Amino acid sequence: MTPEDIQHHQEELVARFRQQLKEGWPAPGTDINALEDFGARLGRTIQEEISERVLPAEAERKEGNQVACPCGGRAFYQRHHALTLVTLAGRVRVRRPYYHCAACKQGQCPADTRLRLGAGHTTPAAQAQLALLSALVPYGQVGDLLSQLGLPLTLDLKQTERVAQGVGKQLQGASLAPYGPTTQTVAVGFDGVMLPTREGKKEARVGVIYEPDREAGRTQAAAGGLRTEYCATTGSRASLVREVCARASARAGGQVVAVVADGAALDWVDLDAYLPSRVEILDFYHVLERVGEIAPLLHPEAPAAAAWREAMRGELEDWGPRKLLETLREWEPTTAAGHEMRRVQLGYFEKQQDRMRYPEYRRRGFPIGSGAVEGACKHVVCERFGRSGMYWKRETAEPVLRLRAALLTQRRLDLRPFAALKGMAAPA
Ligand SMILES: [Zn+2]
Repeated sequence: MTPEDIQHHQEELVARFRQQLKEGWPAPGTDINALEDFGARLGRTIQEEISERVLPAEAERKEGNQVACPCGGRAFYQRHHALTLVTLAGRVRVRRPYYHCAACKQGQCPADTRLRLGAGHTTPAAQAQLALLSALVPYGQVGDLLSQLGLPLTLDLKQTERVAQGVGKQLQGASLAPYGPTTQTVAVGFDGVMLPTREGKKEARVGVIYEPDREAGRTQAAAGGLRTEYCATTGSRASLVREVCARASARAGGQVVAVVADGAALDWVDLDAYLPSRVEILDFYHVLERVGEIAPLLHPEAPAAAAWREAMRGELEDWGPRKLLETLREWEPTTAAGHEMRRVQLGYFEKQQDRMRYPEYRRRGFPIGSGAVEGACKHVVCERFGRSGMYWKRETAEPVLRLRAALLTQRRLDLRPFAALKGMAAPA
């Protein structure tokens, strides 16, 4: 476009805008809905005009009569090829220069790469919006949601899924920068939750890094202050532990990191390699569950069992595992079930006692429960994957898990840098 063309476009736009303002300006007493519609419509018109005038000119731009071909040869300009782009302003028809290489017989439209087009010929901003909504609701609801929001972006279900998968995979490859260092206590939690997949139940492993604050209320601002980072994967436990520990270390500097988990979510292995300065904490509620299993066998009468369980809870909180271990050691069960319970639980708690120094953890401001990571499982996994009748494949679940973890960590994350390019387009 020449400077004269640009000026001409601008003047035309201003004239159209002025005319619409004049014609549509709401009369006094206009219904509030009509009033808001008027504003939205004007905004949309401008958005569409910009897309329809500027984007085609940008796509049409020729960078010369020849370009390099991936084969090493040269591709020569042949003609312009039409393509419909899916943009934030709706569909826009453009024409882009097509180059053909005589040596390898392959063609290319370099403008597609320049415009960073992805699956379904989506622009990066369109991809970002589709991926965001796909992370929040089932793919099948994305179109309805866009339309409810009055957004002109449309794409069929299959392509929506491809776009979201592409952005999720980009995120997977380029992990977000960890949070900066802090002087607050840094805690991490690990847990897992089962995903229904076509290959059967598959564990989604979740890790969370945060700065626990007992005083924090339940407001969003307070929760934001906890600076929670989420990690989630269907991949190996070791890969999750490595990632979470790296992020926690970046935050904690040399400080001790509190690691909270139950035995099942983490075998406490790998931690030496990735987080040398740490305190391992066995989730307090997981311990109480086990105490609750012991209680009815130790005290067959329900009130006595309940009283013992409560007493043990206070004891653990105030003094740690000493009394619990003592009780189990001195217990002489009279039933087979009692014997089995004693064997299993005593064995377990003897191994775990160094992770049950709850009074000390409380004094040092460490969390003793895995509430943070249980919340993370719910937010990252269950709220999107737990709906009935939904079956995922592992490969398709992973990018969406990554998307959700990233978006919950950085609620205003700009997804455009993670837009996925489709392969070089060769016209049919
Ligand atoms: Zn070639």
